[in-house]
Amino acid sequence: MNRIYGNEELLATLGSMVTRDRAAHSVIFYGEKGTGRKTAAKYYTSLLLCSSPEDGKPCGVCASCRNVAADNHPDVYYAQPSGKLGAYNVETTRQICRDAFTKPNNDTGRKVYIFRDCRNTEAAAQNTLLKVVEEPPDYAYFIFTAESLSAFLPTIISRCISLPLSPVTEDEARRALTETDFTKEQADEAVSHFHGNIGMCREYLLDGELRKQVDLTKRLAESIIRKDEYELMRTLGEFGTERSSLRSAFTMADKLIRDAAVFAKGSSAAPISCCPDAAQKLSEVISAYQAARIHSCISKAWDAVCGNVNAGLVLTALCADIMTAAV
Ligand SMILES: [Zn+2]
Repeated sequence: MNRIYGNEELLATLGSMVTRDRAAHSVIFYGEKGTGRKTAAKYYTSLLLCSSPEDGKPCGVCASCRNVAADNHPDVYYAQPSGKLGAYNVETTRQICRDAFTKPNNDTGRKVYIFRDCRNTEAAAQNTLLKVVEEPPDYAYFIFTAESLSAFLPTIISRCISLPLSPVTEDEARRALTETDFTKEQADEAVSHFHGNIGMCREYLLDGELRKQVDLTKRLAESIIRKDEYELMRTLGEFGTERSSLRSAFTMADKLIRDAAVFAKGSSAAPISCCPDAAQKLSEVISAYQAARIHSCISKAWDAVCGNVNAGLVLTALCADIMTAAV
């Protein structure tokens, strides 16, 4: 079973609910990518199904815990997203509602439905779930994970317990990495880019694509410093023009700009971008006010992407806006 680092409050809440026999039937785990939402969903599932939990924690060794860890438990259902946007559709949620009225097979008498990475889920699909989330059968539990609560209708949120996942401290992240697959040097390098986000640190060490994106983010900073609009455009384009690539590009650029603002103000807030050194250099040429304007440009560009504006047009407008803001 994957361990959850940090997030003590969240673990204590889950443990106390189960120990008091008041386990929440519907839970949303939310937080930025890499903070352990899926691990938390599995942890709570194990806790609900474990045959001998101890002190509000799953034992990790019983058949149930092992099956949950191996994604192999007959009473744990992972809803399948569909379509280009990876959303859950009405057919899927209807089928789950029907299934939820069939009793489970296991000794704990519980079954768990997990909806991972909820985003772009149409209102009709969420409305289908409303009834069963509001008045679930005694044995049925629903777990949702998402980057933010904005993925859900207010009516769903009001019927769930929402628990945020936070990045851990940099020391905890180093410990998590060295306790698993990585050397101290690798852990130091990853933490210098992704700080207390263990999932992103792991991805950085295992995935060439994320390394490339870190290099591109450094180039973004350099092109703004040199006021080179053409290079800025070329660099953003290298992230790719799919919505998911643009999302990564905009997220990384936005964190870079946030750090530049923090450095420009002389604040001691901890950096959050993947290249604090580049943000430091950027802060020598743009003010906190200019950084705030660039942040608005990036938000506007993301809204345009979500409104299905052509990626090329969005990037052209964004680069021009950034250059205007940075002068
Ligand atoms: Zn167990």
